[in-house]
Amino acid sequence: MPLSVRAPAELTPHRAQWPVWDQEHFWHAFTQMAEYEPLIIERAQGVWLEDTAGRRYLDGVSSLWCNLHGHGHPRINAAIADQLAKLAHATSLGMSNPPAIELARRLALLAPGDLNHVFYASDGSAAVEVALKTAFQYWRQCRRPRPAKSKFLAFGAAYHGDTLGSAAVGGIDRFHALFAPLLFDVVRLPSPDRRRAPREAAPEEVARLHLAELQHALEQHHAELAAVVIEPLVQGAAGMVMQPPGYLRGVRELTRRYDVLLIADEIVTGFGRTGDLFACDREQVVPDLLCLGKSLSGGYLPMAATLSTPEIYGAFLGSYQEGKMLHNGHTFGGNPLGAAASLASLDLLRDERIVEQQVPRKAARLAEALAPLADHPWVADIRQLGLLAGIELAADPAAGRPFDPALRTGWRVCRRATRNGVFLRPLGDVIVVMPPLSIRDEEIDLLGSVLGAALAAESAAG
Ligand SMILES: *Cc1c(COP(=O)(O)O)cnc(C)c1O
Repeated sequence: MPLSVRAPAELTPHRAQWPVWDQEHFWHAFTQMAEYEPLIIERAQGVWLEDTAGRRYLDGVSSLWCNLHGHGHPRINAAIADQLAKLAHATSLGMSNPPAIELARRLALLAPGDLNHVFYASDGSAAVEVALKTAFQYWRQCRRPRPAKSKFLAFGAAYHGDTLGSAAVGGIDRFHALFAPLLFDVVRLPSPDRRRAPREAAPEEVARLHLAELQHALEQHHAELAAVVIEPLVQGAAGMVMQPPGYLRGVRELTRRYDVLLIADEIVTGFGRTGDLFACDREQVVPDLLCLGKSLSGGYLPMAATLSTPEIYGAFLGSYQEGKMLHNGHTFGGNPLGAAASLASLDLLRDERIVEQQVPRKAARLAEALAPLADHPWVADIRQLGLLAGIELAADPAAGRPFDPALRTGWRVCRRATRNGVFLRPLGDVIVVMPPLSIRDEEIDLLGSVLGAALAAESAAG
């Protein structure tokens, strides 16, 4: 029956119908719909989400790693409302708008080094696609073109998004293996993972070994490599896997030496979560291309960006006939509402000294709140950088024996925590803890105690 002839009442949202319609019509991301139990968030304030029944949940994963300042922040809300009164959207194809201009300027000033040119998209995956296409096209039209440089080097268990190009550089079998026939070939190296090294190995030694491996791969492949793609310091979706200090810096030095571009995917790490504004800052690294997303708008609106150096940008300049423009564009790139939210979020980061003062203090509090979990027999590892943490569970941590994935241990612990008022979503058997940077001390403590109780109850239940 066409919608137009249905009775209006049937189309009017009715609270009691939401769970039914949610299951019937709303196909959720990375969710087995046959087992999906509707959890419908109607409103939120600060770190608290509220469902349709009025139950409250601490947003322990920042609404999938993007919320920075809590929900309903008056300054971000006002920025969006003010902009809405002026302009909701205009294209960025041959046209501009004030908030997107100001945001480009602010990002150029804040980003490491001379990443001065900002290309906008709506999602992180698209920002990565832009970086890949920019790197590829760069080698075709830079001063001394080297079109053979058309491949990418990426790391095991990397995650760069779900579109086919970004999935090609990703390396998580659970997400990517099925689509292998559709994905282009990459040169793949194991991720620099402290867990894979012998326990007694010093972090510097782990970094050295992985850098030697990278050097070997670059020696072999540099003539065909456009770029190395990396999540600096932390591989998020891999399970908050942390790199040893010095590694990122080494990657930058080697990519320079072998004339291979470096693409830094800071879609998770950008904007303060790790304790630095950008993860690259910690190791004084300036990549050739920098991808931003998730927290760019404070997590309020879809907004992503790919920043380039003048060297790269310059290779795309020329007369129209030369065809050197970047052959890519997204309908909502540079959206003024998203840009206004982003500017407000950057104002808050600056005015409330969030990166300089709040994150270090709250990170120490979070470490204290999570420390008691280390005594639990299932806890194999607690990894934390700033306000981003992963708690890895295993059946026998001492023997390095993981849980059978079919048991869905991580998911069961998170479900129990959610029922007790702390929303968490795991990555396999790694519990991700990534609250908004605005979380208060007593909320950090609550998060730790609810998670500890969920773990204890789940292990007692067998
Ligand atoms: C989430 C994520 C992406 C993809 O961003 P979307 O907005 O979900 O497309 C890319 N890279 C990293 C490191 C991410 O965590």
